[in-house]
Amino acid sequence: MSLDLIAAEGHRVTSSIEFDAPLAIRGLTVSYGEKPAVFSVDATFHPGEMTAIIGPNGAGKSTLLKAALGIVKPLSGLISVWGQPLASERARIAYVPQRASVDWDFPTRVLDVVMMGQYRSLGLLRRVSGAHRKIALDSLARVGMESFASRQIGQLSGGQQQRVFLARALAQEADLYLLDEPFAGVDAATEKAIISVLQELRAAGKTVVAVHHDLATVPEYFDRVFLINTTRIAEGTVAEAFTQPNLQAAYGGRLATAQMGAAI
Ligand code: ADP
Ligand code: MG
Repeated sequence: MSLDLIAAEGHRVTSSIEFDAPLAIRGLTVSYGEKPAVFSVDATFHPGEMTAIIGPNGAGKSTLLKAALGIVKPLSGLISVWGQPLASERARIAYVPQRASVDWDFPTRVLDVVMMGQYRSLGLLRRVSGAHRKIALDSLARVGMESFASRQIGQLSGGQQQRVFLARALAQEADLYLLDEPFAGVDAATEKAIISVLQELRAAGKTVVAVHHDLATVPEYFDRVFLINTTRIAEGTVAEAFTQPNLQAAYGGRLATAQMGAAI
């Protein structure tokens, strides 16, 4: 079996891997400059579970997702997607990027943004069919945005834009969903709409991984947590790993104890 194995300086990654997991990461190191943004991280994500990736600003949370998607190239490490190399399974992974990282002035209709989620399965030469349009409209309905299909994406509120990006992920009919701060800067109604869609995905046996900034909602929303601050701090169920010592280790002095007390 060939895997995305990049050995740094001749070292082979020897840790065992859970071959059937939707996403298994071993010994991942990513660096943009001299200092690694993610260092020697192991992580495994399972079907039917929602995991929050938490850690302070600059901890490498977005970088971890981008490496899992092949958007950034690791210095070393192994990424296995259902036991296969990332490239062959990429179409089964949906990604909702951080809203702030998207150029919203690009003139595009909402429905076209959602249909972009289907391009990988469409292939280059196939025509968009009525069935694809229906899936896109159904996806918009699931996030309560069906009446906005013909609007320009730039005219929407932040919460509406975030719902459209979730609809795009849904239209892809993926099995693994990677979301980068899906609740950041959205209104309460959007937060409710997004969490209920994610819970539906989990109930359908999909794997959901979200970078999450609001510690107070972790126990309510998520099954598992993955704490990172460049290196992996802790990983486990909310009861096991979402603890005061782990949060202290991840956030250090940057998080007031009172804030942590409210969250756990
Ligand atoms: P988080 O999502 O946890 O806030 P990031 O993964 O965005 O963290 O960033 C981790 C580190 O990598 C930070 O120090 C950040 O400044 C740096 N970084 C992120 N993206 C880039 C980039 N494109 N070029 C250079 N440095 C980057
Ligand atoms: Mg980030």
